[in-house]
Amino acid sequence: MGTTYQRVLLKLSGEALMGDLGYGIDPTIVQAIAQEVAEVVASGVQVAIVVGGGNIFRGVKASAKGMDRATADYVGMIATVMNAITLQDALEQKGVQTRVQTAIAMQEVAEPYIRRRAIRHLEKGRVVVFGAGSGNPFFTTDTAAALRAAEIDANVIFKATKVDGVYDADPQTNPDAKLFKSLTFKHVLDRDLRVMDSTAIAMCRENNIPIIVFNLFERGNIQRVVAGETIGTFVGG
Ligand code: UDP
Repeated sequence: MGTTYQRVLLKLSGEALMGDLGYGIDPTIVQAIAQEVAEVVASGVQVAIVVGGGNIFRGVKASAKGMDRATADYVGMIATVMNAITLQDALEQKGVQTRVQTAIAMQEVAEPYIRRRAIRHLEKGRVVVFGAGSGNPFFTTDTAAALRAAEIDANVIFKATKVDGVYDADPQTNPDAKLFKSLTFKHVLDRDLRVMDSTAIAMCRENNIPIIVFNLFERGNIQRVVAGETIGTFVGG
């Protein structure tokens, strides 16, 4: 299979790892994702991953219930590290060398984030999983994905979701929702479409990093997007 992209950044939400569970991590889902990533890596593509933490803890939600926002965000960032380490384990069980780098130092369990080192791992064919988001409260892991993608010079961000791409309405509640095949960054910002948050979109726009939003739960989709098949929604320009 031909590949269009040399270095990709895959953004996995925490909820993607949760599957149908109400909370936490579904090991079967994590193994399935690891299998797909392993196949992409075997085809010679460099893969970096930013993983969210919404399956465990969300800062905004906790602060709405009275917790200090910045403190809650730090808990959220630490939650992403649990997901990152779990993903690393699953990838290594598939034979893929994987390094976790965290934006909040936790050197007993992961490397600290060092940009040049991350790039070196990728060049050696290792997967790098970035944990702890950007390391700053008031941000999201979507914005961390845009930031890391720019830093490591990724060709594209793959935003994995539960639905087929970006729609003009919620496809899970509205059967007439229409899927966009492609969108400009401006369109996404003007219409406030739920691709990634606006800070992340603005960063991608400024740094010319396209985003492909696609359904993670259809087997083989990660390889399809890597091979340049037009699935999901392309956001660029
Ligand atoms: N978070 C943060 N700074 C970051 C990234 C994440 O403070 O740079 C916190 C924030 O509280 C967020 C939580 O970590 O709610 C989990 O990340 P996110 O909600 O982005 O995860 P996802 O929606 O992708 O599962």
